[in-house]
Amino acid sequence: MKTILLSSDDPNTPAVAAELIRRGELVAIPTETVYGLGANGLDEEAVAKIFLAKGRPQDNPLILHVAEGQDMEKFCHSIPENAYRLAEAFWPGPLTMVLPARDCVPRRTTGGLSTVAVRCPDNAVTRQIIRLAGVPVAAPSANLSGKPSTTTAAHVLHDHDGKIAAVVDGGSCRVGVESTIVDLTEDRPRLLRPGGITPEQLTAILGDLVVDKAVTAQIDKDAVVKAPGMKYRHYAPDSEVIIVSGSREAAARYIHRHFQPGDRVLCFEEELPLYADCVPLAYGKESDVNTLSAGLFAALRELDDPSISRVYARCPVGGGVAYAVQNRLKKAAAFHIVDGEAEE
Ligand code: AMP
Ligand code: MG
Repeated sequence: MKTILLSSDDPNTPAVAAELIRRGELVAIPTETVYGLGANGLDEEAVAKIFLAKGRPQDNPLILHVAEGQDMEKFCHSIPENAYRLAEAFWPGPLTMVLPARDCVPRRTTGGLSTVAVRCPDNAVTRQIIRLAGVPVAAPSANLSGKPSTTTAAHVLHDHDGKIAAVVDGGSCRVGVESTIVDLTEDRPRLLRPGGITPEQLTAILGDLVVDKAVTAQIDKDAVVKAPGMKYRHYAPDSEVIIVSGSREAAARYIHRHFQPGDRVLCFEEELPLYADCVPLAYGKESDVNTLSAGLFAALRELDDPSISRVYARCPVGGGVAYAVQNRLKKAAAFHIVDGEAEE
């Protein structure tokens, strides 16, 4: 199959992409979070192609993307007041809500669950594609399963050229990490995945938020040497990733003590001078966490190179969007975290 590259700037793109989706083809779409691998979310055969292209386990559910917030009513039932309040505050935007699924949503889309994840993305061209397609677009991140997510059209082509009908090139994704996911099907709202909408923003609207165990384990500050979950790798390059925590100076001393030829350093722009002899790669500025979230996956993909043995990575601290960056980087590192100050 020849994969067509469609430009977001071309006025014909929404109609062309929508027609492909209506015909049951796969189209990669830009969003403010990451690129999604989109298909008609109500068409089981089309959805099956997503799982096949990504090598994604069948029980890993997809997110249903809608053009307008009120469209959630077409695909979800028993919608609590909190869902309307979150939609009002954050849609279109990087927030996904898990709600009870209507029967029209195939179980293949929900990974066999009776709930469905919905999101209204903040990208005008992608919303127009969904509108014209006349169906919700099921779209997981457009990377191969287990690999770092795709934040440019070039990343998508790297993983899927020749396997999907089209890629809509909308430039680099602004947020750069996948959407925040909140489960609203229990008594209390539950954060399943941190993202561009922060726990603080959610709590301001909901007044209450349970952070799922998996999330807290991932960001556990006490995981000084190795936290549990070492075997679970996601968002990860082939090379071993080790997060070095602690002060800038202590981390640099640790890395210099352990660095071997063939290793790389993934750091903040402010730290580049400290690693002149360690082939450093900066993924953003420590002083501006939005640059870190926007740059993380492109950097992890660049480091997905068989000639690299180890990557020593620096991770931002604190809440807000840093919480999401920590989550992705710690997963990429399979929770291998060392304290740069512990050996001193
Ligand atoms: P991705 O779009 O690749 O980031 O993957 C979608 C994410 O949404 C996965 O982590 C899913 O587990 C999660 N998700 C989708 N639907 C549901 C659901 N019904 N309940 C819980 N999580 C979900
Ligand atoms: Mg994904």
